[in-house]
Amino acid sequence: MNIILFGPPLAGKGTQSAFLVEKYGLMQLSTGDMLRAAIARGTPLGKQAAAIMERGDLVDDATILSIVGDRMQQADCQNGVIFDGFPRTRAQGQGLDAMLATMGKQIDYAIQLDVDFDVLIARVKSRIAQTPQSERRADDTPEILENRLKVYQQQTAPVLEYYKEKGQLKVVDGMADIAQVSQSLQTILS
Ligand code: AMP
Repeated sequence: MNIILFGPPLAGKGTQSAFLVEKYGLMQLSTGDMLRAAIARGTPLGKQAAAIMERGDLVDDATILSIVGDRMQQADCQNGVIFDGFPRTRAQGQGLDAMLATMGKQIDYAIQLDVDFDVLIARVKSRIAQTPQSERRADDTPEILENRLKVYQQQTAPVLEYYKEKGQLKVVDGMADIAQVSQSLQTILS
């Protein structure tokens, strides 16, 4: 079973991915983590990606598809994966479908954790107000969060549209409590 999980920062994607990994024995594949690992190892890919990532731009589709394709060949991906942060463009979605087809695999579910962006911003504001300044994360500001949400909306909308057109998109209410969201995911996957 191969799943794509779409959701903006603070939507609970990490928590729900951990639940799905545990429950279904899936492997979580984050292209962002793979790129950061390449940077840490100082590989040619890492050197190429570092400047792009610092600007918050997207690494090119061919490079992303190539690293995902290599990773998908490995034994720990054969039971199924959760794609996280990928696909980020329509071309990546099409490339992923073509790649999986050559492996006799497919995307079984593309799931969107649907959230209310105003509520997420209100959440981060209240978290900041309750946290002493010395303990705050550098990126826990309403301004940075708003920007990350905007980038997510701009980048992801066309990809969601691609899966909607194919009749594969499932939408889950990401504003429900954690257990309820997990339950909704389980209902879709079972
Ligand atoms: P993330 O950890 O998913 O937020 O990704 C961090 C950065 O890595 C992004 O801002 C992009 O520069 C790059 N990146 C991660 N995944 C992709 C992808 N699927 N396509 C293009 N760039 C990506």
